[in-house]
Amino acid sequence: MTNRETFQFKTEVKQLLDLIVNSLYSNREIFLRELISNASDAIDKLRFKAQTNPEILGDDTEFKIKIIPDKKNRTIEVADNGIGMTKDEVIENLGTIAQSGTAAFIEAMEQADKEKGELPELIGQFGVGFYSAFIAADRVTVITKAAGSDQAVKWESSGDGSYTIEDVHKEGRGTRVILHLRENREGEDEEDFTDEFTIRRIVKKHSDFVAYPIVMDVERDEPVPESEAILDKDGKPVEGQTRKVVKEETLNSMKAIWLKNKDEVTEEEHNEFYRHLSHDWNPPLSHLHMKLEGVIEYVALLYIPSKAPFDLFRPERRHGISLYCKRVFIMDDCQELFPEYLRFVRGVVDAPDLNLNVSREILQQDAVVRNIRKNLVKRVLSHLAGLDAEKYETFWNEFGAILKEGVYTDIENREKLADLLRYRSTGSEGRLISLKDYVAGMKPDQETIYYITGDDITSLANHPHLERLKEKGYDVLLMADPVDEWVVQALTEYDGKKLKSAEKGDLELDKVDEKKKGEYEKLFLHIKSVLDDHIKEVRPSTRLKDSVACLSGDQYDMSAYMEKILKASGHKLPENKRILEVNLEHPYMI
Ligand code: ADP
Ligand code: MG
Repeated sequence: MTNRETFQFKTEVKQLLDLIVNSLYSNREIFLRELISNASDAIDKLRFKAQTNPEILGDDTEFKIKIIPDKKNRTIEVADNGIGMTKDEVIENLGTIAQSGTAAFIEAMEQADKEKGELPELIGQFGVGFYSAFIAADRVTVITKAAGSDQAVKWESSGDGSYTIEDVHKEGRGTRVILHLRENREGEDEEDFTDEFTIRRIVKKHSDFVAYPIVMDVERDEPVPESEAILDKDGKPVEGQTRKVVKEETLNSMKAIWLKNKDEVTEEEHNEFYRHLSHDWNPPLSHLHMKLEGVIEYVALLYIPSKAPFDLFRPERRHGISLYCKRVFIMDDCQELFPEYLRFVRGVVDAPDLNLNVSREILQQDAVVRNIRKNLVKRVLSHLAGLDAEKYETFWNEFGAILKEGVYTDIENREKLADLLRYRSTGSEGRLISLKDYVAGMKPDQETIYYITGDDITSLANHPHLERLKEKGYDVLLMADPVDEWVVQALTEYDGKKLKSAEKGDLELDKVDEKKKGEYEKLFLHIKSVLDDHIKEVRPSTRLKDSVACLSGDQYDMSAYMEKILKASGHKLPENKRILEVNLEHPYMI
């Protein structure tokens, strides 16, 4: 009697599988990397659990990932002795997609450059690696037994909307993923994934750094030992006798490149390792490899990506740092080691003094971790400061908006972060300048750094509020990113110079002529009485030259842009009346 049950995939999985099954691929081999990476994760999880519960390992302590090709039946299997899954976990992990990025994935998938083989890469990036099995297979079977359980389960699907689950027998814990390979389609690569040398090449290329041996049985001709050899008529062994033997070979080098000497790691290795970590097919913009010895010890190999991932601004975005202790994986997505505003950095931190039993809660309070974090942040910031201008601009365009968050969240490093800021300005002709550049270019009589915020650089540059500043030849920083509103609240000074909004408060450019002001008092009172519901005050303008009037804010008022941002994000704001400024020099007024 069979206990097989049929389940429907969740809608988003159905959608995803539909796309995967019906696409053509020029680079299908990536599925193997994804399955190996899952196997490696499963062993990591088991080892981590065994730190507190060593019995869980039993006598199966030799961790490995085995690839088993079968030419005759056209299958390839990836087997591990990791943590395995219970029936509930199978349903949860292989029937749904935990991440909320599916919609974004499908969108990206539709836009991907199919010629360049970007499709399979996306699968890894979006954390839906398991389903990549359907790139190469028309049926996938998973047989798995959770560590500490006596019951194994079999999951099977043809990627067509449903899957089956049944209880089965399996020796030992861990997971076997069996792909029933489909025929190659026209227009696809023509790889034979059961071929030994194809498999070797793929493993070497994508999974060389995996920390566990990836093994495969290979058949070789071996000289027959003398004792078993056929003898000639003189009783001597016939020469050149061979026999077939099957040997398990390890296909990956497992080298932890972060532990190598800095100058022994080639650029090629960096690129591969970065790709292995990030699933990003663009080479990194730069890397930072360091070894700290002394009171706190750690090795870190960090990469600055050259392109922002699609989900950088999503709240559930994972951090890019994996934490190790003497090559033993502790956790990925290690938020404790880096502040939010450096979440774009990818890499590995290996700290020998860490306690392997740490949990996330403990990590936060751990003095070693806090020290490492402090040091890492400093090193990353000075690394960024040392990038050449061209690289820095690439970096800034991709990640500047994120780095800016640090200005208001990391008081300790605020000055360093201020040095890293870049803006366009009215005088910079489209170039990005630093605050240092700005200060160096200040006019002799200029005491203040002027800026204006808004959502469009061009309209900011032509804003009437800047008329007088332009006339005086003062440069104005154009801040066209919502986050800048928070930056200028935190960063009130740079190099001893105050930052001042060109649309708020008195610009203090010239003394207002009090006599003249008196002459207009009646008119101002009249305007105010007419527009009382809309404006707070009428004042002679200190910022206009060609325009007759403008609205501005008081020094401590919210800027117009901030108001817009907050309203757009659904905040209910009390009415914020603006000041009507009148240009007393304007022909209309004279
Ligand atoms: P990700 O690896 O990013 O979590 P995948 O789609 O690759 O996403 O895998 C989905 C989930 O299925 C994994 O998180 C894991 O819980 C489970 N899984 C996949 N392969 C294995 C395996 N070999 N052993 C144990 N669990 C696995
Ligand atoms: Mg995976």
